[in-house]
Amino acid sequence: AKTLLDIRNLSKEFKVSGGRTLKAVNDVSFSISEGETFGLVGESGCGKSTTGRTILQLYNATEGEIYFNGENIIKMNKKQKYALHSDMQMIFQDPYASLNPRLTVTEIISEGMDALGMYKGDKSGKYDRVLELLNKVGLKKNHANRYPHEFSGGQRQRIGIARALAVKPKFIIADEPISALDVSIQAQVVNLFQDLQEEENLTYLFIAHDLSMVKHISDRIGVMYLGKLVEVSESVELYDNPLHPYTQALLSAIPIPDPKVEHSRERIVLQGDVPSPMNPPSGCHFRTRCAHAKKECESMIPQLKEVEKGHFVACHLY
Ligand code: SF4
Ligand code: MG
Repeated sequence: AKTLLDIRNLSKEFKVSGGRTLKAVNDVSFSISEGETFGLVGESGCGKSTTGRTILQLYNATEGEIYFNGENIIKMNKKQKYALHSDMQMIFQDPYASLNPRLTVTEIISEGMDALGMYKGDKSGKYDRVLELLNKVGLKKNHANRYPHEFSGGQRQRIGIARALAVKPKFIIADEPISALDVSIQAQVVNLFQDLQEEENLTYLFIAHDLSMVKHISDRIGVMYLGKLVEVSESVELYDNPLHPYTQALLSAIPIPDPKVEHSRERIVLQGDVPSPMNPPSGCHFRTRCAHAKKECESMIPQLKEVEKGHFVACHLY
Protein backbone atom coordinates (compact mmCIF):
# COMPACT_ATOMS: atom_id res chain seq x y z
CA ALA A 1 0.00 0.00 0.00
CA LYS A 2 0.96 3.60 -0.45
CA THR A 3 2.85 5.35 2.36
CA LEU A 4 0.64 7.94 4.02
CA LEU A 5 2.88 9.16 6.82
CA ASP A 6 6.66 9.09 6.76
CA ILE A 7 8.56 10.39 9.78
CA ARG A 8 12.27 10.84 9.42
CA ASN A 9 14.70 11.56 12.26
CA LEU A 10 12.08 13.40 14.25
CA SER A 11 13.21 15.09 17.45
CA LYS A 12 11.31 17.31 19.83
CA GLU A 13 13.04 19.19 22.63
CA PHE A 14 11.46 21.26 25.35
CA LYS A 15 13.25 23.97 27.30
CA VAL A 16 12.65 23.38 30.98
CA SER A 17 13.55 25.24 34.15
CA GLY A 18 17.19 26.02 34.79
CA GLY A 19 17.93 26.36 31.07
CA ARG A 20 17.91 22.61 30.68
CA THR A 21 16.61 20.70 27.71
CA LEU A 22 14.29 17.73 27.67
CA LYS A 23 14.63 15.64 24.56
CA ALA A 24 11.16 14.08 24.59
CA VAL A 25 11.48 12.57 21.11
CA ASN A 26 14.94 11.61 19.98
CA ASP A 27 15.70 10.82 16.35
CA VAL A 28 12.59 8.77 15.66
CA SER A 29 11.80 7.39 12.18
CA PHE A 30 8.88 5.26 11.02
CA SER A 31 6.23 5.24 8.35
CA ILE A 32 2.57 4.24 8.14
CA SER A 33 0.85 2.92 5.03
CA GLU A 34 -2.63 3.87 3.92
CA GLY A 35 -5.25 1.82 5.76
CA GLU A 36 -2.75 0.58 8.32
CA THR A 37 -2.90 0.77 12.10
CA PHE A 38 0.44 1.50 13.69
CA GLY A 39 0.57 0.98 17.45
CA LEU A 40 3.03 3.12 19.39
CA VAL A 41 3.76 1.74 22.83
CA GLY A 42 5.79 2.68 25.88
CA GLU A 43 5.62 3.77 29.50
CA SER A 44 4.49 7.29 30.37
CA GLY A 45 7.17 9.83 29.58
CA CYS A 46 8.68 7.79 26.73
CA GLY A 47 7.69 10.37 24.11
CA LYS A 48 4.80 8.61 22.41
CA SER A 49 2.22 11.35 23.02
CA THR A 50 4.74 14.03 22.09
CA THR A 51 5.37 12.16 18.84
CA GLY A 52 1.63 12.20 18.10
CA ARG A 53 1.24 15.87 18.95
CA THR A 54 4.26 16.83 16.88
CA ILE A 55 2.84 15.00 13.87
CA LEU A 56 -0.39 16.93 14.31
CA GLN A 57 1.63 20.17 14.56
CA LEU A 58 0.39 20.90 18.06
CA TYR A 59 4.14 21.16 18.71
CA ASN A 60 6.81 22.33 16.32
CA ALA A 61 9.42 19.67 15.62
CA THR A 62 12.95 20.52 16.74
CA GLU A 63 14.53 18.42 14.00
CA GLY A 64 13.49 16.00 11.29
CA GLU A 65 10.82 15.69 8.65
CA ILE A 66 7.19 14.61 8.63
CA TYR A 67 5.84 13.70 5.20
CA PHE A 68 2.10 13.36 4.89
CA ASN A 69 0.86 12.29 1.48
CA GLY A 70 4.34 13.07 0.16
CA GLU A 71 4.49 16.61 1.52
CA ASN A 72 6.76 17.76 4.31
CA ILE A 73 4.30 19.31 6.72
CA ILE A 74 7.03 20.92 8.79
CA LYS A 75 7.75 23.21 5.86
CA MET A 76 4.10 24.23 5.45
CA ASN A 77 2.90 27.72 6.33
CA LYS A 78 0.25 28.38 8.96
CA LYS A 79 -2.62 28.30 6.52
CA GLN A 80 -1.53 24.98 4.99
CA LYS A 81 -1.06 23.48 8.45
CA TYR A 82 -4.55 24.61 9.40
CA ALA A 83 -6.01 23.00 6.31
CA LEU A 84 -4.34 19.73 7.34
CA HIS A 85 -6.98 19.34 10.04
CA SER A 86 -9.37 18.13 7.37
CA ASP A 87 -7.02 15.16 6.82
CA MET A 88 -5.65 14.54 10.31
CA GLN A 89 -7.51 14.40 13.57
CA MET A 90 -6.68 13.42 17.12
CA ILE A 91 -8.66 11.53 19.72
CA PHE A 92 -7.55 12.16 23.27
CA GLN A 93 -7.10 9.90 26.25
CA ASP A 94 -9.45 11.60 28.63
CA PRO A 95 -13.01 11.75 27.32
CA TYR A 96 -13.94 13.85 30.36
CA ALA A 97 -11.39 16.60 29.86
CA SER A 98 -11.46 16.74 26.07
CA LEU A 99 -15.14 17.66 25.68
CA ASN A 100 -16.28 21.19 26.51
CA PRO A 101 -18.90 20.74 29.29
CA ARG A 102 -20.84 23.83 28.17
CA LEU A 103 -21.47 22.63 24.62
CA THR A 104 -24.12 20.21 23.45
CA VAL A 105 -23.10 17.08 21.59
CA THR A 106 -24.20 18.72 18.34
CA GLU A 107 -22.03 21.76 19.03
CA ILE A 108 -19.05 19.59 19.98
CA ILE A 109 -19.30 17.46 16.86
CA SER A 110 -19.78 20.59 14.72
CA GLU A 111 -16.67 22.39 15.99
CA GLY A 112 -14.27 21.00 13.41
CA MET A 113 -16.76 21.36 10.56
CA ASP A 114 -17.35 24.99 11.53
CA ALA A 115 -13.63 25.71 11.77
CA LEU A 116 -13.08 24.35 8.28
CA GLY A 117 -16.13 26.13 6.86
CA MET A 118 -18.07 22.96 6.06
CA TYR A 119 -21.87 23.25 5.74
CA LYS A 120 -21.64 27.03 5.80
CA GLY A 121 -25.18 28.38 5.83
CA ASP A 122 -26.63 24.86 5.66
CA LYS A 123 -27.80 24.30 9.20
CA SER A 124 -30.05 21.36 8.44
CA GLY A 125 -27.40 19.68 6.30
CA LYS A 126 -24.97 19.98 9.19
CA TYR A 127 -27.51 18.63 11.66
CA ASP A 128 -28.20 15.64 9.41
CA ARG A 129 -24.47 15.01 9.28
CA VAL A 130 -24.31 15.14 13.10
CA LEU A 131 -27.10 12.56 13.32
CA GLU A 132 -25.33 10.38 10.77
CA LEU A 133 -22.12 10.59 12.83
CA LEU A 134 -23.94 9.73 16.06
CA ASN A 135 -25.36 6.66 14.37
CA LYS A 136 -21.90 5.70 13.08
CA VAL A 137 -20.40 5.71 16.57
CA GLY A 138 -23.32 3.86 18.17
CA LEU A 139 -25.09 6.82 19.80
CA LYS A 140 -28.73 7.84 19.40
CA LYS A 141 -30.52 10.73 17.75
CA ASN A 142 -31.84 11.97 21.06
CA HIS A 143 -28.27 12.34 22.35
CA ALA A 144 -27.68 15.26 19.99
CA ASN A 145 -28.89 18.01 22.32
CA ARG A 146 -27.47 16.69 25.56
CA TYR A 147 -24.33 17.75 27.44
CA PRO A 148 -21.17 15.69 28.10
CA HIS A 149 -21.90 15.14 31.81
CA GLU A 150 -25.00 13.14 30.85
CA PHE A 151 -22.87 10.39 29.31
CA SER A 152 -20.72 7.53 30.54
CA GLY A 153 -16.97 7.41 29.83
CA GLY A 154 -17.40 5.08 26.88
CA GLN A 155 -20.16 7.24 25.40
CA ARG A 156 -18.03 10.36 25.80
CA GLN A 157 -15.22 8.69 23.93
CA ARG A 158 -17.73 7.89 21.17
CA ILE A 159 -18.59 11.60 21.04
CA GLY A 160 -14.87 12.37 20.71
CA ILE A 161 -14.62 9.87 17.88
CA ALA A 162 -17.65 11.41 16.11
CA ARG A 163 -16.05 14.85 16.45
CA ALA A 164 -12.85 13.58 14.83
CA LEU A 165 -14.73 11.83 12.01
CA ALA A 166 -16.88 14.88 11.23
CA VAL A 167 -14.31 16.45 8.90
CA LYS A 168 -13.73 13.16 7.00
CA PRO A 169 -10.07 12.72 7.92
CA LYS A 170 -7.73 10.17 6.31
CA PHE A 171 -5.58 9.78 9.37
CA ILE A 172 -6.41 9.63 13.07
CA ILE A 173 -4.01 9.79 15.98
CA ALA A 174 -5.64 8.10 18.95
CA ASP A 175 -3.68 8.93 22.10
CA GLU A 176 -4.49 6.23 24.65
CA PRO A 177 -8.16 6.35 23.70
CA ILE A 178 -9.18 3.41 25.87
CA SER A 179 -6.86 3.73 28.90
CA ALA A 180 -9.32 5.80 30.92
CA LEU A 181 -12.25 3.47 30.22
CA ASP A 182 -13.53 0.53 32.24
CA VAL A 183 -12.04 -2.73 31.08
CA SER A 184 -15.52 -3.95 30.14
CA ILE A 185 -15.92 -1.02 27.74
CA GLN A 186 -12.45 -1.10 26.19
CA ALA A 187 -13.12 -3.96 23.78
CA GLN A 188 -16.30 -2.28 22.48
CA VAL A 189 -14.42 0.92 21.71
CA VAL A 190 -11.59 -1.00 20.03
CA ASN A 191 -14.19 -2.78 17.89
CA LEU A 192 -15.70 0.58 16.96
CA PHE A 193 -12.27 1.81 15.86
CA GLN A 194 -11.88 -1.27 13.69
CA ASP A 195 -15.33 -0.98 12.09
CA LEU A 196 -14.82 2.70 11.36
CA GLN A 197 -11.45 2.01 9.80
CA GLU A 198 -13.11 -0.13 7.15
CA GLU A 199 -16.12 2.11 6.59
CA GLU A 200 -14.15 5.35 6.40
CA ASN A 201 -10.83 4.12 4.93
CA LEU A 202 -8.91 5.38 7.93
CA THR A 203 -5.27 5.08 8.84
CA TYR A 204 -4.46 5.05 12.56
CA LEU A 205 -1.62 5.88 14.85
CA PHE A 206 -2.80 4.15 18.00
CA ILE A 207 -0.87 5.17 21.10
CA ALA A 208 -0.93 3.02 24.25
CA HIS A 209 1.15 2.36 27.35
CA ASP A 210 0.48 -1.34 27.33
CA LEU A 211 1.21 -3.88 24.60
CA SER A 212 -1.93 -5.87 25.38
CA MET A 213 -4.08 -2.87 24.39
CA VAL A 214 -2.67 -2.58 20.88
CA LYS A 215 -2.24 -6.25 20.15
CA HIS A 216 -5.50 -6.83 18.30
CA ILE A 217 -5.87 -3.54 16.56
CA SER A 218 -2.33 -2.95 15.25
CA ASP A 219 -0.85 -4.20 11.98
CA ARG A 220 2.57 -3.05 13.10
CA ILE A 221 3.89 -1.85 16.43
CA GLY A 222 6.68 0.49 17.49
CA VAL A 223 8.07 0.37 21.03
CA MET A 224 9.51 3.53 22.58
CA TYR A 225 11.78 3.99 25.55
CA LEU A 226 13.04 7.37 26.81
CA GLY A 227 12.40 9.20 23.56
CA LYS A 228 13.83 6.48 21.32
CA LEU A 229 12.12 3.96 19.10
CA VAL A 230 13.73 0.66 20.14
CA GLU A 231 11.82 -1.89 18.06
CA VAL A 232 9.40 -1.91 15.11
CA SER A 233 7.75 -4.97 13.66
CA GLU A 234 4.55 -6.51 12.42
CA SER A 235 2.31 -7.08 15.38
CA VAL A 236 2.20 -10.90 15.30
CA GLU A 237 5.97 -11.11 14.82
CA LEU A 238 6.55 -8.73 17.74
CA TYR A 239 4.48 -10.88 20.08
CA ASP A 240 6.01 -14.15 18.89
CA ASN A 241 9.57 -13.00 18.58
CA PRO A 242 10.37 -9.86 20.56
CA LEU A 243 14.01 -8.93 20.09
CA HIS A 244 14.70 -5.90 22.24
CA PRO A 245 15.21 -6.69 25.95
CA TYR A 246 12.75 -3.91 26.82
CA THR A 247 10.04 -5.34 24.55
CA GLN A 248 10.69 -8.77 26.02
CA ALA A 249 10.14 -7.37 29.51
CA LEU A 250 6.94 -5.54 28.49
CA LEU A 251 5.56 -8.69 26.92
CA SER A 252 6.49 -10.88 29.85
CA ALA A 253 4.19 -8.76 32.02
CA ILE A 254 1.13 -9.69 29.96
CA PRO A 255 -0.61 -12.82 31.20
CA ILE A 256 -1.30 -15.36 28.46
CA PRO A 257 -5.07 -15.81 28.53
CA ASP A 258 -5.20 -19.13 26.71
CA PRO A 259 -4.45 -22.02 29.08
CA LYS A 260 -3.83 -24.32 26.10
CA VAL A 261 -0.73 -22.34 25.24
CA GLU A 262 1.94 -24.52 26.73
CA HIS A 263 4.88 -22.21 26.81
CA SER A 264 4.29 -19.38 29.19
CA ARG A 265 6.63 -16.49 29.16
CA GLU A 266 8.97 -16.14 32.06
CA ARG A 267 8.29 -12.89 33.85
CA ILE A 268 11.17 -10.46 33.37
CA VAL A 269 11.22 -7.92 36.16
CA LEU A 270 13.09 -4.79 35.22
CA GLN A 271 15.55 -3.42 37.72
CA GLY A 272 15.12 0.15 38.94
CA ASP A 273 12.92 2.94 37.61
CA VAL A 274 12.88 4.68 34.27
CA PRO A 275 15.72 7.23 34.42
CA SER A 276 14.79 10.90 34.07
CA PRO A 277 14.33 11.88 30.43
CA MET A 278 16.22 15.06 31.41
CA ASN A 279 19.32 13.02 31.94
CA PRO A 280 19.14 9.71 30.05
CA PRO A 281 22.01 7.21 30.32
CA SER A 282 24.81 7.50 27.76
CA GLY A 283 24.93 5.01 24.89
CA CYS A 284 21.84 2.81 25.03
CA HIS A 285 19.19 4.60 27.10
CA PHE A 286 17.97 1.24 28.37
CA ARG A 287 21.33 0.00 29.65
CA THR A 288 20.74 0.82 33.35
CA ARG A 289 17.85 -1.68 33.38
CA CYS A 290 19.09 -4.22 30.87
CA ALA A 291 20.26 -7.66 32.00
CA HIS A 292 22.30 -8.03 28.78
CA ALA A 293 24.17 -4.71 28.90
CA LYS A 294 27.79 -4.92 27.86
CA LYS A 295 30.68 -2.48 27.63
CA GLU A 296 29.78 -0.96 24.27
CA CYS A 297 26.23 -0.23 25.46
CA GLU A 298 27.69 2.55 27.64
CA SER A 299 29.27 4.48 24.82
CA MET A 300 27.50 3.56 21.59
CA ILE A 301 23.92 4.55 20.81
CA PRO A 302 22.34 1.54 19.07
CA GLN A 303 20.69 2.46 15.77
CA LEU A 304 17.42 0.95 14.60
CA LYS A 305 18.29 -1.68 11.99
CA GLU A 306 16.40 -4.32 10.10
CA VAL A 307 17.49 -7.72 11.40
CA GLU A 308 14.71 -9.78 9.86
CA LYS A 309 12.39 -8.75 7.06
CA GLY A 310 10.29 -5.88 8.37
CA HIS A 311 11.61 -6.36 11.90
CA PHE A 312 13.77 -3.53 13.20
CA VAL A 313 15.58 -3.33 16.52
CA ALA A 314 17.98 -0.88 18.15
CA CYS A 315 20.22 -3.08 20.30
CA HIS A 316 23.88 -4.13 20.21
CA LEU A 317 22.93 -7.77 20.68
CA TYR A 318 21.90 -7.91 17.01
FE1 SF4 B 1 20.72 -3.96 26.47
FE2 SF4 B 1 22.91 -3.13 25.23
FE3 SF4 B 1 20.80 -3.91 23.82
FE4 SF4 B 1 20.76 -1.65 25.18
S1 SF4 B 1 22.06 -2.13 23.43
S2 SF4 B 1 19.14 -3.15 25.09
S3 SF4 B 1 21.92 -2.17 26.98
S4 SF4 B 1 22.06 -5.18 25.18
MG1 MG C 1 0.71 10.28 27.16
